Amino acid sequence: MQTAITIESLAKSYAGKPALKAIGFEVREGSCFGLLGPNGAGKSTTMKILCGLLDPDHGRVAVFGKDASSSGEEIRRQVGYVPQSITLYEKLSAADNLKFFGEMYGVRGPVLKERIADVLEQVGLADRAKDAVDSFSGGMKRRVNIAAALLHKPRLLIMDEPTVGIDPQSRNHIFEMIRSLQHEGVTVLYSTHYMEEVEALCDSLAIIDHGEVMAQGELSEVLDRFGTQAVYLELDGQQEPPEIAGFGKPVSKDRGWILETSSPLEAIASWAATCQAQALRVKQLEIVRPSLETVFLSLTGTTLRDV
Ligand code: ADP
Repeated sequence: MQTAITIESLAKSYAGKPALKAIGFEVREGSCFGLLGPNGAGKSTTMKILCGLLDPDHGRVAVFGKDASSSGEEIRRQVGYVPQSITLYEKLSAADNLKFFGEMYGVRGPVLKERIADVLEQVGLADRAKDAVDSFSGGMKRRVNIAAALLHKPRLLIMDEPTVGIDPQSRNHIFEMIRSLQHEGVTVLYSTHYMEEVEALCDSLAIIDHGEVMAQGELSEVLDRFGTQAVYLELDGQQEPPEIAGFGKPVSKDRGWILETSSPLEAIASWAATCQAQALRVKQLEIVRPSLETVFLSLTGTTLRDV
């Protein structure tokens, strides 16, 4: 299978301040690749360089085997880019906005008309085609922006934090759309600071922080390699979890506590014995799989929401 994106030693500074410090990763064709990192990590900078909107200081970028420095135009024809900021004409209808974007991409006439109908269907807005965009919610506007990036049938869709500040219904539409694009073989590069989105959508990822790639690979591989296992305990009516000797401090999560450990079997047995000795009523006690949350914590020492 072909590589959709190759990034090697990519570096970029703004006014002498490094935003990307020689990052590198590869995206397999047909995959949904998550670029995960906190605000300011360098995600947008990476995406803008990939789309030819920004020149790197150093490094190499190739899309479908073509070097970005020499084949920018050819690459742009195969890439759809959904920027973080929404750029639409508020007074125009969704369809007229798309007509404008389609012509910009070089799609015209009956083909464009057909494509507008198709992309509005894809983003779940077919019934709102004729309505002015200023009557739309933020999430619906974002979906029109995504539709615009799909008009020229790109092989690669690059989405920069598409779900920030939008309603759950629009978020679901975006997720469904990404899944159906994947069935058609479209490669998706998806940036986000929501770990649960990467877990739900992506088959592979790069974790980026302070302009550096901290971990990358298939999602399951990254979880196995960097994630620690943990034990989850939920008690009936108990305020604090019982301590168990030889293990770290449990941290509260949902309605119970999580204890990270490399010896989950021993931890679960000790916790069960302690609860039994103290006659505590256990609602749930189980070994939980490593999550991206624990991976991020172990790689950076902070949780993603703290930074
Ligand atoms: P992310 O998309 O992960 O939030 P960005 O790529 O937008 O990160 O930003 C990476 C770093 O570069 C941040 O420290 C940000 O403040 C800085 N930066 C981004 N764009 C500019 C710019 N146009 N001028 C100066 N600094 C910038």
